[in-house]
Amino acid sequence: MPIGLALIHWDDSIGAILDEIYPDDDEIKKVFNTEKVLFIFTSQTMGDITTERFSALFTDEFHIACYYGGRENNLLLMLILEENETPRFFKPILKEQFYKIIQNLDKAHEIIPQLFNEIVEKASKISEINNCPVSPIIAYKISKVVKFLEKNPSTIFTPQYDYIHGVHYPKLEQIAGNSIKAEDLLKELEKQNIVGKYMVDNLVVCPSCGSSHLKTSKICPICNSSTIIEGNIIEHFKCGHIDFENEFIKNDMICMKCNLKLETEGVDYQRLGHYHYCLKCKKYFKELNEFYQCLDCKANIVKNSLSIKPIYKYYSLLRPINQISRREEFK
Ligand SMILES: [Zn+2]
Ligand SMILES: [Zn+2]
Ligand SMILES: [Zn+2]
Repeated sequence: MPIGLALIHWDDSIGAILDEIYPDDDEIKKVFNTEKVLFIFTSQTMGDITTERFSALFTDEFHIACYYGGRENNLLLMLILEENETPRFFKPILKEQFYKIIQNLDKAHEIIPQLFNEIVEKASKISEINNCPVSPIIAYKISKVVKFLEKNPSTIFTPQYDYIHGVHYPKLEQIAGNSIKAEDLLKELEKQNIVGKYMVDNLVVCPSCGSSHLKTSKICPICNSSTIIEGNIIEHFKCGHIDFENEFIKNDMICMKCNLKLETEGVDYQRLGHYHYCLKCKKYFKELNEFYQCLDCKANIVKNSLSIKPIYKYYSLLRPINQISRREEFK
């Protein structure tokens, strides 16, 4: 079940401000301090405050789903989730609740508990849907696989990887078709004790939807901007100016700040090594933070919050059909 709901707004002179948070809980408030609220706002808008959007963020401390309203209102509605919850299921209701707040902005404090309860109600419906028994199509596919395994008991379902599917099981797809994800079918086969498994590999995946289609970028450790360039840098001793080596070369080794020529390395200048430069906050960094975006569900993910998905081989637990019939003959 969702844990809480909060409203953040952006003030050009102060930054991100937590307007409302429900429930009024000290533990939650401790997690969402000023620094975290700033990180959430900047990472979810990613420097583009013009576009209204849904997004999600995973860190080792919290999982959240957000709805941002764009430049017009500069408001972000944030739903705090439990670890096992899937943010994208909350996209429609979060957008709906966002507009209810916009229309009653002066009463935000009073209506947030009600809006949160409506989301919780919706979440319980989502979990009911997810726990429903197998669909007729899965039941049909299971019967096909069972027939095949009874005739071919030594079958092993071996994983393969490609760009489109991430991980898939060609042998199983050959038997049962590919209208259902092989992994979903295998999960069901395992639940019904038709196949057993052992781990052979792992895959780094999105903690929200399990996809391995991840976009990786390096971001500034201070302002979270992804406008970063890199190169070797040089420091001019005389004036203290630091810049990329290729900028000095372009300028015939004449310092852009003091106009003196750089003559001898180690005497009037030194190479400081490879650095990154943030175009937004104009600072050099040796190390950057890594940031991921899921190309499937658009969740934003901080490095340590990526999930590791175990990859298995599967084998048949069914007795071959000839053994069963032989035993029956002995009766
Ligand atoms: Zn200089
Ligand atoms: Zn920066
Ligand atoms: Zn995802």
